[in-house]
Amino acid sequence: MPPILPPQHAAHLEGIVFPHADILSVADRLPAEEQRKLQTIHEFLQTEIRPAVGEYWDREELPFDLLPALAAHGLGEIELSGTSRLYRGLVYAEVTRADVSLSALVGIHNELVVGLIDKLGSPEQKDTWLPGLRTFEKVGCFALTEPDHGSDIAGGLATTAQRTEDGWVINGSKRWIGAGTFADFAITFARDTTDNEIRAFIVELDREGVTRTKISRKMGLRIMQNADIHFDNVVIPLDNAIPGAQSFANVNDFLCYSRAWVGWQGAGLQLGIFDKAREYAVSRQQFGRPIAKFQLVQEQLARILGNASASLTMMAQVAWVQEEGRLEMPFAALAKATTTRLARESAAAGRNIGGGNGILTEYDLSKMMSDAEILFTYEGTYDINSLIVGRAVTGVSAFV
Ligand SMILES: Cc1cc2nc3c(=O)[nH]c(=O)nc-3n(C[C@H](O)[C@H](O)[C@H](O)COP(=O)(O)OP(=O)(O)OC[C@H]3O[C@@H](n4cnc5c(N)ncnc54)[C@H](O)[C@@H]3O)c2cc1C
Repeated sequence: MPPILPPQHAAHLEGIVFPHADILSVADRLPAEEQRKLQTIHEFLQTEIRPAVGEYWDREELPFDLLPALAAHGLGEIELSGTSRLYRGLVYAEVTRADVSLSALVGIHNELVVGLIDKLGSPEQKDTWLPGLRTFEKVGCFALTEPDHGSDIAGGLATTAQRTEDGWVINGSKRWIGAGTFADFAITFARDTTDNEIRAFIVELDREGVTRTKISRKMGLRIMQNADIHFDNVVIPLDNAIPGAQSFANVNDFLCYSRAWVGWQGAGLQLGIFDKAREYAVSRQQFGRPIAKFQLVQEQLARILGNASASLTMMAQVAWVQEEGRLEMPFAALAKATTTRLARESAAAGRNIGGGNGILTEYDLSKMMSDAEILFTYEGTYDINSLIVGRAVTGVSAFV
């Protein structure tokens, strides 16, 4: 496989023995066709997406005009593509390497919206939504978290769905919902008032009784539009219940896979941090020589690369287990907790290499440091994922 290296960086790196950040050649495990596709996606993301998104990040705006290009590279239908788990994971890592917010959009879209409708939806729901979702002409969001229930959502979920002759009546509030400001519909989790079971419903967000408010002034993931969504007696057709998601246990696989997806984000972010930190280290001069010549700078580059490689190889193994149908929540939780913990350390080291410039969005390093905080928290906080692992290895739960 040709080295995964942004062409604009190549001039700085002449004579460097390991020009690409995937130093252990994880991508070489892919079949040749998937390697080619991954390289094409990498080049597109590094040349067209990465340089374009900084100003949107500063303004907390989503570059809607870039969505058709993402779709043209198949990023709206990764979960329908029949490609290997390793390929899908490496694509998620590559999107994150270019921008964490867009990777959140692509990942939630594929893992929790397209994938869930494809596997658990009715034939009518698939016909209605999947064609538009493939091209990003339609966008869905995943509405689970609530203002008063984050880590304890499984037990505490308070949004209700009441079945009537005319349809389901949804009441309640959701918080932090990615793409919630503009999505066409929300896969909404609500408790059925008849049996207290948590079920998932497709709620079109232009229905009467829906209000949505953008959550502004976030320290990270600033391009992704997160929203508070309130449902006040929102009536939806009975057919909008997702037939395969009639209990929380039914969607557990998806929550497990999406946790693994965030593990890939943790790995991909560190590739991006390494790219930028190395680029800066070899080009910035102090004391009459590149700062890359200083031992302390080299130690930090080695630390970032070690963290990134550990994360990438761990995720490659997750992909293999997932491909075999053996991925369980504790393994996904361990991977997510580990790669995002390492991403935080790598981000701090990368930002340090950037010195003063390291705090400016245009150098990407502070942007990636802020985005690392979000990976550490969403899809189950670091603490909760650690406790899931702790329960699995001790047999006792420390959190319920
Ligand atoms: C930018 C962003 C995007 C998001 N996108 C979405 C989305 O698209 N859809 C969606 O449904 N949700 C989304 N979320 C929600 C996310 O999953 C939750 O924020 C997360 O699960 C944590 O919940 P919380 O924020 O309510 O924190 P809390 O649960 O209130 O936790 C606060 C602190 O207490 C700790 N804590 C809680 N319980 C325990 C315990 N038993 N033992 C030890 N420590 C504990 C936590 O680890 C944390 O440090 C998003 C969040 C963010 C920040």
